[in-house]
Amino acid sequence: MKVIDNWNEYYLRLAYLVARKSKDESSKIGSVLVKNNSVISSGYNGICAKVLDPWDYENKLEKFSEDIREKGYDFYENEKAYEKIKNRKLRPYKYMWVSHSENNCICQVAKMGISSNGSTLYTLAIPCDRCAVSLIQAGVSEVIVHKQFNDIFYQSEKWNPILQVTIDMFEEAGVKLKILDLSLDEIVLLVRKNINYENV
Ligand SMILES: [Zn+2]
Repeated sequence: MKVIDNWNEYYLRLAYLVARKSKDESSKIGSVLVKNNSVISSGYNGICAKVLDPWDYENKLEKFSEDIREKGYDFYENEKAYEKIKNRKLRPYKYMWVSHSENNCICQVAKMGISSNGSTLYTLAIPCDRCAVSLIQAGVSEVIVHKQFNDIFYQSEKWNPILQVTIDMFEEAGVKLKILDLSLDEIVLLVRKNINYENV
């Protein structure tokens, strides 16, 4: 197997690995936060922690029943509880319930008491405007995304206004945005299987 001899490729491949933990089939995105050449956190797109997650039910995870019991909702059958919360994974509600991978990286270091100031975020595509705000506020100084994924992810022009906000914000705030042109075709193909880009 080929040795990875480049740090950008190493961290980008980690971000792809993290993305595979996301249960959201329409936006499997992962991010890795790096400081002084060490990973200080990682994150993937998913429902806010500690709340009932409809994807857990759909993936038949035991965690769903455990969460219901833990919250004292065991008067609900699993199916009933799922009916009550299933819109959390659907637009537009999902925008309120889901935390993006980039934001999750920042929240994770905040929880652990690690400074994100001066760190670099590796992620698959240019962050949304809300995550861009979090990254700027947290002192992230560089964001590195994968050109080959970004081009597919943002192929619909409807995203251009949001993308432009992120690009303008980063430029004014002095956050370096690097779009890495790197052939990782086998990984992109793997992820693409799980993503309906038309519907993102
Ligand atoms: Zn975002």
